[in-house]
Amino acid sequence: MKNLSFAEPLPTTEIDLSLFNISGNRLFLKREDLIHPFVSGNKFRKLKYNLRLADKQGYKTILTFGGAFSNHIAAVAAAGRELNFKTIGIIRGEELESKITENPTLSFAKNCGMQLYFISREAYRHKAEIDFINKLKTQFGDFYLLPEGGTNALAVKGCEEILNEKGLSADYICVSVGTGGTLAGLVVASEENQRVLGFSALKGTFQAKEISKFTSKTNFKITDAYCFGGYGKIDFELVRFINEFKEKTKIPLDPIYTGKMLYGIMDLLKKGHFKENSCIFAVHTGGLQGIAGMNQKLKKKNLPIIE
Ligand SMILES: *Cc1c(COP(=O)(O)O)cnc(C)c1O
Repeated sequence: MKNLSFAEPLPTTEIDLSLFNISGNRLFLKREDLIHPFVSGNKFRKLKYNLRLADKQGYKTILTFGGAFSNHIAAVAAAGRELNFKTIGIIRGEELESKITENPTLSFAKNCGMQLYFISREAYRHKAEIDFINKLKTQFGDFYLLPEGGTNALAVKGCEEILNEKGLSADYICVSVGTGGTLAGLVVASEENQRVLGFSALKGTFQAKEISKFTSKTNFKITDAYCFGGYGKIDFELVRFINEFKEKTKIPLDPIYTGKMLYGIMDLLKKGHFKENSCIFAVHTGGLQGIAGMNQKLKKKNLPIIE
């Protein structure tokens, strides 16, 4: 059976909140970012059972979708290299084709052996439609299909495994939200009396609908109050916070997901949102490969970078 190598058990580190002038609650961070050097965090969890099934069903090729700086694309490419699957990445934005070498995510994926195909934003919108998928099958032959962001029932099953004993004894479970697949897994694995809080990396909290496809439990809430204007958007204050967090805890955060979540958790702690003396379990979902691409953009604008 094809299984990715991984490091477990992963550390769950208590964050010393006094360093941030916060008292009255305890915060623990589970380091899912350390699970694999290249198939990081929740992307590892989401791929685990999908790759097993792909192998069992005899697929040699994995095809998936993503944007220019996608953690999912990087993870699928690295997993394919390790497990000997051919990988195909359908990338949003034709203009990127000439920029592979200067884009750290795309050049990493290419170096892992992923075949990259660039399509227009308009064509990309049809990526989940059956006609579109069938055209891809004519073009590339048969493949195991992973949706954008990698969320499906098997991905949710993998994410259930994030919750350890520490997580199960916490009052709150916090995670960053893109498609909501990871949060869905945590909700499934959680106890009814635990609150699962999702910090959306993009505008809107529409992911709740996606999550309800995977669980009937409702002990979760999603906020987009800390999305910093939208997906991939950041500002000076977020960069400052990510650097402060790393300086004080030695733990790096990414600018797209985990930086925004921790910023939100700290803000809610300061505002007294959490019950007094409660215990918060947050998941570091990884995504650190995205720092290089973000720093490139920041440098071009002469802005402070993520250290
Ligand atoms: C993809 C990703 C997420 C979002 O996961 P979903 O399951 O799509 O909600 C969160 N954090 C990191 C670091 C990611 O790469």
